[in-house]
Amino acid sequence: RAKQQGRNGYSFYTPELQSHYVRTLKLENALRRALEQDQLSLHFQPQHELLSGRLVGAEALLRWKHPELGWVPPAEFVPIAESSGLIGPIGDWVLGQALRQLRSWQAQGYTELCIAVNLSAAQFRAANLPERVAERLERAGVSAASLELELTESITMQDPETAVLAMERLHQLGVRVALDDFGTGYSSLSYLKRFRLHKLKIDQSFVHDLERDDDDATIVRSTISLATSLGLQVLAEGVETQAQHDFLLRAGCQFAQGYLYSRPLPADEFSRYAARCMSIELP
Ligand code: C2E
Ligand code: MG
Ligand code: MG
Ligand code: MG
Repeated sequence: RAKQQGRNGYSFYTPELQSHYVRTLKLENALRRALEQDQLSLHFQPQHELLSGRLVGAEALLRWKHPELGWVPPAEFVPIAESSGLIGPIGDWVLGQALRQLRSWQAQGYTELCIAVNLSAAQFRAANLPERVAERLERAGVSAASLELELTESITMQDPETAVLAMERLHQLGVRVALDDFGTGYSSLSYLKRFRLHKLKIDQSFVHDLERDDDDATIVRSTISLATSLGLQVLAEGVETQAQHDFLLRAGCQFAQGYLYSRPLPADEFSRYAARCMSIELP
């Protein structure tokens, strides 16, 4: 087979690479129609305050169910949406949909609930981002204070000077910004100080082995104290066990999300989850 490939001049093309390429093309084409064909949806993962156990918010996570391929993970299709320019309309849809959902929960009485929405690099770079966000907030009838935008460390550090300005404009709007996957990128401390940030989200890779890996435990403790001394909130991602929860609580981490509390849920299941949380909290 290698010989045949050589004759075709594709000797550097392994079958795996080729099938990966074919799948990417296929996904890109399918993604073009996914929005209009109603194949996209949002799931919502609960976020809790550790000390009180209170449900404080939800992170909106994009889901795509392709009619033949089934569920395609966001880690696979978000980069494709990004490189093909489809992330513009898709990202606008995510923001609008997340805010409409929040509005409906707030109308159901969950007035304190906040929503966190992930932004891609291209969305964050768009010069009119603050206007777009303001328009979506207005249309949904949601106050800026109940929206948190999640930016990864790597997105902000691609062009930190521009990021400083963009965050300043979001701050003027009253929207909060969380730094996602913290610890996996290369944030410099000087930028952490200059960024208009509200929260650090400790990446789940550090939480995962917390009980077995002393280095991870140290990183988590240091991140919590770094956040605290910079006046930032701190949330641990990917909390799966009671032992991790206990460690984080003792270390002074304010917020957490993860399978221990709940997987990301469709909107109607999230409503039922919120109702259960309220009934536990209220006497
Ligand atoms: P992220 O923003 O860091 O989201 C957290 C991911 O961790 C989610 O994966 C969530 O389902 C998963 N997770 C939550 N709790 C646990 C846990 O206890 N254990 C483990 N192992 N995983 C947990 P998901 O939904 O597959 O999303 C992956 C990434 O895709 C997100 O990472 C985010 O970077 C991106 N993404 C998702 N939705 C959007 C979106 O609407 N826009 C953009 N730009 N990116 C998105
Ligand atoms: Mg996120
Ligand atoms: Mg994350
Ligand atoms: Mg992640």
